[in-house]
Amino acid sequence: MNTAAAGTVYLVGAGPGDRGLMTARSLELIASADVILYDKLIPEDALAGARPDADLVDVGKIGGGKQVPQDLTTDMVVQHARAGRSVVRLKGGDPFVFGRGGEEAQACRAAGIPFEVVPGVTAGVAAPAYAGIPVTQRGVSPAVAFVTGHEDPAKPETQIDWPALAAFPGTLVFYMGVRQLPRISEQLIAGGRPASQPAAVVQRGTYGDQRSLVTTLGALPSDARAAGVKAPAITLIGDVAALGDELAWFADARPLAGVSVAVTRARAQASAIGARLRSLGASVVEAPTIRTVPLDFELPDLADRDLVVFTSPTGVERVFTAARDARALAGPTIVAIGPGTAAALRAHGVDPDLVPERSASEGVIESIADRTFSRAVIVRALEGRALLLDHLRERGVDTTLVAPYRTEPAVLDPELRDAALACDYALFASGSSVRSLHEAAGGSLEGPRVVSIGPATSAVLRDLGVEPAVEAGTHTPDGLLEALAVDVAARRAAGG
Ligand code: SAH
Repeated sequence: MNTAAAGTVYLVGAGPGDRGLMTARSLELIASADVILYDKLIPEDALAGARPDADLVDVGKIGGGKQVPQDLTTDMVVQHARAGRSVVRLKGGDPFVFGRGGEEAQACRAAGIPFEVVPGVTAGVAAPAYAGIPVTQRGVSPAVAFVTGHEDPAKPETQIDWPALAAFPGTLVFYMGVRQLPRISEQLIAGGRPASQPAAVVQRGTYGDQRSLVTTLGALPSDARAAGVKAPAITLIGDVAALGDELAWFADARPLAGVSVAVTRARAQASAIGARLRSLGASVVEAPTIRTVPLDFELPDLADRDLVVFTSPTGVERVFTAARDARALAGPTIVAIGPGTAAALRAHGVDPDLVPERSASEGVIESIADRTFSRAVIVRALEGRALLLDHLRERGVDTTLVAPYRTEPAVLDPELRDAALACDYALFASGSSVRSLHEAAGGSLEGPRVVSIGPATSAVLRDLGVEPAVEAGTHTPDGLLEALAVDVAARRAAGG
């Protein structure tokens, strides 16, 4: 991979919001940059792949308040690069489309700093596309104009030639300026566009909570107001807007659109579930309630073992810090609890012999019932369950426990806790995550509908007085998501 170079500035577009629309190049640069200066409007999780030691600077706002002034941002970009760092300047959509990327490039040129531009998928094309509206269409609209709606058309200093824009023979796409809709509509009609011409507004296009509305140029201001349309939104005027009703696809492709879900898992694992939820259209609050703490451990010689059980991806990673050579695992039967654990092993070139259907110790016990072993190793968290260890020892198997990490409750900041409790759903994949969110929430899980991964987790929930709304039939992350989807569909069908 071609990583970010020292002393270089990368003006990178992060796309309109759906993480899947980020370019391969943007992800590569985010993963390697020393410093990332990012705007407010970038995809959730856009920075998930950044180096743990990267300096992440939010230039979208100062302490939750005002936007960092452009001069200051430009200065920071130049200074970091001068100091020899690789700098990613991450912007929503495309950096050169109403993104002030051109000015930052000029500042780099003036300072003699090398820069690269990484275009992004721009909202003006993507938001309409996600609302089923092609910005051009053969026989309907042969041209498209991108326009800032930021300016007040009534002001004399406006840079926009409104009569010319009204006469433009094609689609008009307005960025910004939801508040200017009455003036925009007025000016275009005054310039000769028919009030009956189709128009559309797409709010938070490509995000899970995208909303869109198709109307006419004349009715646009009042319809948008009635619908409570807010920034960020793209406004599109032209006959192509009418295709939005015919070609709408987003709601079908995103069965969880508009649903907010709190996920409570240890960081590394939460992201995988979070990403899946987002791809189904959910908005996700990830509350890391567990954190793993690496422990010093001794790895016994695995060559003279005939069974090794891995219970978690973390366990796999930790063992491979000690056993760099996958051949150490060539002899014994390798059992992985859960598909994530199996995937972690495969990533190290080890294909597990057994991945029990039930992702729990019980599943392992069932799957090895008719096999004999003499010497085993179990890799698990220090505070893990004793069930499997006891079982093997009862069977006379000489079993060593390797605990290369422990888990402990992560302190949840109040803002995140409130966001989690305000969600439509909370997903629990383990008893310990139930306990820690419950604790962080001050002894109550009231608010979200609770989905539990299986009976053990449900038992913990009930102990704490929480009745799960749904319990997964298959006790895996996939099963958990499926249970959620079924519940959402059922409640929608019931009008809930
Ligand atoms: N450089 C960006 C635009 C930045 S200007 C790009 O190429 O997309 C900010 C404006 O972009 C917002 O006011 C809004 O009009 C539009 N915008 C950005 N993301 C959007 C989204 N997901 N849905 C709708 N409009 C969006």
